Amino acid sequence: MPPVEEVRPGLWSVPVPIPDNPLRYVLVYALELRGGGVALVDAGWNTEAAWSALSDGLAAAGGSMSDVRAVMVTHIHPDHYGLAGRVREASGAWIGLHPADAVMLESRYGDTDELLASMSRFLSDSGVPADKLPDLAAASMAVKSMVTMAAPDVLFEDGETIDLPGWSLRTIWTPGHSPGHVCFYSDDRRLLISGDHVLPRITPNISAHTQVANPLGDFLTSLAKLEDLPADEVLPAHEYRFSDLQGRLKEIMAHHADRLDEIEQVIADRPGSTAWEITLQLHWSRPWDEIQTFMQRQANGETLAHCVLLELEDRIERQGTGPVRFFVTPH
Ligand SMILES: [Zn+2]
Ligand SMILES: [Zn+2]
Repeated sequence: MPPVEEVRPGLWSVPVPIPDNPLRYVLVYALELRGGGVALVDAGWNTEAAWSALSDGLAAAGGSMSDVRAVMVTHIHPDHYGLAGRVREASGAWIGLHPADAVMLESRYGDTDELLASMSRFLSDSGVPADKLPDLAAASMAVKSMVTMAAPDVLFEDGETIDLPGWSLRTIWTPGHSPGHVCFYSDDRRLLISGDHVLPRITPNISAHTQVANPLGDFLTSLAKLEDLPADEVLPAHEYRFSDLQGRLKEIMAHHADRLDEIEQVIADRPGSTAWEITLQLHWSRPWDEIQTFMQRQANGETLAHCVLLELEDRIERQGTGPVRFFVTPH
């Protein structure tokens, strides 16, 4: 993991480990507040190792967990939100989240029976073979134990300035990777804290699933929303900081344009393919059999997100259910 670093006066980057995951760590940002205390952007998984890393990081910055006044969560995923509840218990901090993610907390981390059932139907509609269905449907359940269920105290709205002494940070709502994903921008410091929305090397998973309609369309709109931002540096939640925001936005948009073309071509070559069959035909960063079950499900969700957008662009159409089959639209 990279070291704890002071990125700017009073702004610290604290790597927090993620168990069994190629991303390895999430970068939590700690903002020193005028008059004392610290605000965190994201928190990490709810594991002892993550808790220790965050505590040590705050100590390196000259503070401690009890100094935390706010936990501003970029989105609902366990590597960002998991520890938020425990930090609040230890410090009395407020937790902030966008309402579109807040409404999903109970179904994701509380009573998950309904989500599991609808995920099974959804995967079966995608053409996932029956023998793989139970594993794939349950693939996200292991993370439940690594999240403290905690309702937010503050709901972030788009464009709102957040009340933090010594900072003028505003929320930019960037749905796509998650319906309630937010970035934070400091106009005076020209810094973008980008969460998982814009990462320097990889692209975040954009999955169609039971709780979102057109996530890739949302994501591309959310990328365009940052095009005019005069940021000097981007502080992402994974990998490393970088400076060329506009260049990176263009690369990510081009990546998805290529992927849309690739998927349309697979469907042209194999009319009537299911989302799962298309997924198996695409190029992935490693051989399919070496991809963990949860990642296979995300890959399928990602294919489907592209299919939804291709349908809206009138490039392909779907037929039937259980499973749904895709065809290139005749023009
Ligand atoms: Zn995420
Ligand atoms: Zn993440």
